[in-house]
Amino acid sequence: MKTTAAIVHEQGQDFRLEEVDLDEPRADEVLVRMVATGLCHTDISLRDSLPAEMFPRVFGHEGAGVVEQVGADVAGIEVGDHVLLSFRSCRQCGPCLEGAVGYCDNALMLNYMGFRMDGSTTHRLEDGSPLYGSFFGQSSLAQHAIAYADNCVVVDKALDLTLLAPYGCGFQTGAGTVLNVFDPAPDQSIVVFGAGAVGLAAIVAAKAVGVETVVAVDLLDARLEVAERHGATRVNPAYLGEQPVQDRVKELTGGGAAYGIDTTGVSAVVTQAQLSLRPRGTLVALGLGDEQYAVDAIDLLQNGKVVRSSIEGDSDPLEMIPRLLAMRAEGRFDVDHLVTTYPFAQINSAVSDVLAGTVVKPVLVW
Ligand SMILES: [Zn+2]
Ligand SMILES: [Zn+2]
Repeated sequence: MKTTAAIVHEQGQDFRLEEVDLDEPRADEVLVRMVATGLCHTDISLRDSLPAEMFPRVFGHEGAGVVEQVGADVAGIEVGDHVLLSFRSCRQCGPCLEGAVGYCDNALMLNYMGFRMDGSTTHRLEDGSPLYGSFFGQSSLAQHAIAYADNCVVVDKALDLTLLAPYGCGFQTGAGTVLNVFDPAPDQSIVVFGAGAVGLAAIVAAKAVGVETVVAVDLLDARLEVAERHGATRVNPAYLGEQPVQDRVKELTGGGAAYGIDTTGVSAVVTQAQLSLRPRGTLVALGLGDEQYAVDAIDLLQNGKVVRSSIEGDSDPLEMIPRLLAMRAEGRFDVDHLVTTYPFAQINSAVSDVLAGTVVKPVLVW
C-alpha cells in the first residue's frame, strides 16, 4: 500500500514527508493507522549518529493509532482497536522469559537494524529501493506502521491517543525507572538531573508513590517550574554561585539522595549526579549522549554506590503502560500537560523546539 512517511535520507538530515510503499502485514504483523506519534530524543540522536549505510530510514517509536489489519497469527488485537506502540522483544529468550524484555537477546535486530528477522524491509521508496523501517518494530513517524503483538498495547477507545503516544517510550522510561528499578519508600529521596519528558515522568511517578523529597536539577527555569508544580524542589546550577550542585542536593536531601536519575547523557552531569547520592545510593544514567561517563572511583568505592543504566525503565510495556494508565485514571499520574502537539508536516520545527528546550514532549498529529 501507499502511505506517507517522514524519511531521513542521510545521517543528520531533516525529516522529509514522502509517499512510500508499505508491505501488507504478514501473519505475525499488525497494520496501524497512526493518529499521533511522540518524538523522542532517541529518534533525533540516532538520526544524527547511525552509520551512513543505515539510511534512508523511517524513525518513530512512540506511535498511537487505530488497527486497520491483523495478521492471521496475531491474538488479542482486533481491527478497530486503539493501540499504543512500544519497543519489541522476542518473548522467548532467557532475558525475556525472566521478564526482562528490555534486555531481549534479539533487541538489536528487532528494534534498531531496520528490517525484519529475515532481512526484508517493510518499506520501499517510490523507485522501489529498500527503505529501512521496523524501528522499534514500528517506524511510526509515518501515517501507517507495521507493528507486532509484543509491542502493541490495546487501550480504551475513550482515551485521547494524542496525549498517550509518549507512554510507549519517554513516560514509561521515566516512570519505570522509579517504579521498577527504585521501588522507593516514602523517606527515600530522589534527585533527577534533566527535567525533560523522561525526568518529569520520573518526578510525577515518585510523587505518585509517596516519595517525600524529590529534587529536580535543570538549567531551564521553565522546566523547573513544571517540576515544582509536581512537588519537586528546584535547583538551577546557574544560580548556585560557587556552591557545587551536589552540595546543594545534599543539603536538600539531608546528606544525599537515595536514588538519582540522569537524563542528560553529559558525562560531567552524570558525575555530579553520582556525587549527589548518599552512601549506598543508586544512580540510573538514562541519557543517550556522551559515549563514556566519568565515574568518581573513590566516591564509588568508599560509599558503596551503584551507577547503572536501564532500558525503558526495566519495563515490560504490556504491563507498565496499563499500570500507568490506571494511575492516570486515578489522577495520580498527570503528565498530559507535558505534551505539545504539532501537525505532522511541522516535524522539523518540533525537533528544533525540543532541542531548544522550549517544549517538553512534542507529539506529531496526523
Ligand atoms: Zn527475547
Ligand atoms: Zn524513546
